Order: sequence, then C-alpha cells, then structure tokens
Amino acid sequence: MSRILLTADWVLPVTSDPILDGAVLVEEGTIKAVGPREEVMRHVSDDVEIKEFGDAALLPGLVNCHTHLEHSVMRGLADTYPFVEWLMNLARLSPELSHEQRVNSARLGALEAISSGTTTVADVTRDGSSVEAITEAGLRAVVFQEVREMDPKAVDSVLSDVDKRLNHSRDIAGKNIEIALFPDAPYAVAPQIYKALSKYSRESDLLMATHLATGSAEREFVMYGSTRLGTDYRDMFGWGDHMWQPMGVPSLKYLEQWDVLDGKLIAMNVARLSDQDLELLMKYKVRVVACCRASAKLGAGFAPLGRLSRRDMRLGLGTESVSASNNMDMFDEMRISLLLHRGAAERVEFDLFASDYLWMATMGGASVLGLDDKIGSLEPGKSADIIAVDFSESHQTPVREVNSALVYGTNEQDIMMSMVDGTVLFENELHMTMDEIPVIRACDEVSREIRNKLN
Ligand SMILES: [Zn+2]
Repeated sequence: MSRILLTADWVLPVTSDPILDGAVLVEEGTIKAVGPREEVMRHVSDDVEIKEFGDAALLPGLVNCHTHLEHSVMRGLADTYPFVEWLMNLARLSPELSHEQRVNSARLGALEAISSGTTTVADVTRDGSSVEAITEAGLRAVVFQEVREMDPKAVDSVLSDVDKRLNHSRDIAGKNIEIALFPDAPYAVAPQIYKALSKYSRESDLLMATHLATGSAEREFVMYGSTRLGTDYRDMFGWGDHMWQPMGVPSLKYLEQWDVLDGKLIAMNVARLSDQDLELLMKYKVRVVACCRASAKLGAGFAPLGRLSRRDMRLGLGTESVSASNNMDMFDEMRISLLLHRGAAERVEFDLFASDYLWMATMGGASVLGLDDKIGSLEPGKSADIIAVDFSESHQTPVREVNSALVYGTNEQDIMMSMVDGTVLFENELHMTMDEIPVIRACDEVSREIRNKLN
C-alpha cells in the first residue's frame, strides 16, 4: 500500500483553521488524516514515505476555473488590443494551428498550471487537443467542448457534431477528466442552438459553460446588434447572411428567455453585472467564474466579487487564456483581483479578504465544477490533490499571517510540489510527467510564425 506523510510549518485545510506544524497523511491517493504533526504521526507505520517541507505551507491544489490551454502559444496577444480585436485575432489565428501545434500549446499550458500550483483546470477545447495534453500531464480537469454557430438552421448538424466530438474526447480522456459542453458566447451561438445545447446538457446530465456578461461589447451586440461583433466578427465567420435579431435586453435576460439559465450552467469570465443580472444569476443558481485580470486587461471591467460572494453562490476564479492574462499563476489572479476590488472600493475594509480568495481558488472552484466532494480542501476521504508552497525565501520571511502570505506574497516560483491523487507531478523544479524543453522549443517556433502573421 502506498503511504506518504507530508509535513510543513503550516497546513491549510481551507475548510478549517490553519494548523501550525501540521501534517497530511495520504494513503493510496486519498487523504487519510490532517492535523498537528504529532497527532497525525500516531497513524503512521514504518513503511510510510516522508516528505518534509519545513518552512512552507501545504494546501489544496488550486482550481483554475477557466482556461484555454490550446491558446497558450498566443501568450500576450491582448497586450495592446481591446476585447473585440483580441477575439478577432484569436479567431483568425487559432484555426491555422495544426493538431500537433495545438497539442503542444496545450502541453505548455498544462506544464505551467502544474508548476504554478494548479491541480484542476476547467478548460475549453476546439478539437480535443487539450484533452490529450491534460491526460499526459496528469492534471484533473473538466474539459468543455466548444461550439460556435450562428446559423439558426444548423441545430441538427451541431448536435450530431457535438455528439461525435464529446465521444472522441471521452475516448482519449484520462481517469480524472470529465467532458462537458461550451457554447462559446452570445455573439457566436444562435439562440436556437443555445437552447438545444442546454436541453442536451440537461438530458445528458452534463455541465455546460459559456462566456457570459463579458463586457459592454457583448452587451451592445445582444441588445442592439451593434459593435464590431455585429459586423466584422460575424463576416469573419461567414455568418453575415444569418440575421441577428437584436434582443433589446442584456445577455442574461436574453438567455433566460431562451430557457438556457439553470443550476448546471457556468457563466465564465463574467465582467459586468447589473442588479438585474445578479438577480437572474441567483434565481437560477447559475455558477459564476470571474477572470478579473483578463477582463480588466481587455478594458472590459471586472466581476463584482464582493456582491457575488454575499449571495451564497458557487463562485470560482479563472485566468482565461494566457493570450489575455499572460500567465496561469492563480496567486497572481487572487492578488490582482483583490487589489483591483480594494482600489475600486477606495477602502481597505473591502468585503473580501485573503482567506476568501483562497476559498474561491480552492473550494469555490471545486463547487463550481461539481467536484467539492472530491477536492478543494484537505479533509480525510478527499483526493490527495495537494501543493506545497515555499516560505523560506526573503520575499516571504517572516510569515505573519499565512493566508496573507499566500495571497499577497506568493507567486509561481514558490511552488515546491504539486500532486494529484497522491501522484507527484512537480517537485524540486522538475516536471514528472512531461519533458518541458521540447514543448517550450516547439511552442517558441509556433509563436514566431504567429508574430509574423500579426505584423
Ligand atoms: Zn474564455
């Protein structure tokens, strides 16, 4: 039987108070005991493997609730583009990648996730490439199959295509990967197709996610058919002949009218919410993912996390694609989001504290993905998805309060170890499941090609 004892100066179960000088006992990939080191040692037999991290914290692996790993080679694409230009460049360049280039791009993202302390991703795939990469990497994931179609008559062909693509992804997916549906966004999916996919997801008991309430461009397109989303973007996809009937209401109200809102829907990259939007999210128990860094960078605002968290909702954090956020570091995501909110509120006693952000990046995210019975906290019976964070470097010393040290002072370079199901994926700056160098070289080559196409 495989038994590992992990010890550190700090253990953060997340669902209970931090433990000073703590330990976690892992047996066959499952957490067996969590507590003060001396207490946990009583459960330990001689055959246990011991990993002592010392001046460090053990905490649940982070849950990145919104990624597009296949876009990793587009890192930094949004540095100088507003939202619609970013979307159009992504949509133009992404289909030019070969399958192998997409898999390599997703490998790059998976490597980055693991070494920055993420153990679960909610990823979006076009052709299953990221399923291949995530399986190789050993991450836990929910992978969402992307659908884009503005032809209202294409319902049957979309459903049959979705069936095939979901089955393909299931066939190649590793044991910790679930497959789900992703109608892209209100500007890329006809209402009839949204409605049909929503019915399909309910009947098949699948999670469904979509980009929603992502900013003023989306809102104005849905309400009035305006912005470049109503002209150039549609022309680029050849949808110019399919008339868009302006809805006269914002995106959430429109999707309510088409029977799309329900408790298994995840609204991804939410940036801008009116009081009516908040009421609709609550009424239908829609799960919400905020990607504050990406949406702020694109000049699209950022989700009102304080108002959302007061409403007892399933609420997680995501980085979006690195084409917008530049990196997949969830510590950056927590820190910058907290600072954005505090700065906008113009007060220090903002509603959310470092511990709330850690909750959203672990238990909150797990709950959004329906995985909170398996992951998100360090508790006996849960899967051993655990990370160790170094506190011994000068930028962390001394640790005054552990939640603050993690949110305000930690970055991806501080990750000492990441494990999923008790299997170590990263330790001592080395990846255990993939060879990093060839992936980086291959992605560098692709990114040079992309740069030439942008200039
Ligand atoms: Zn996205």
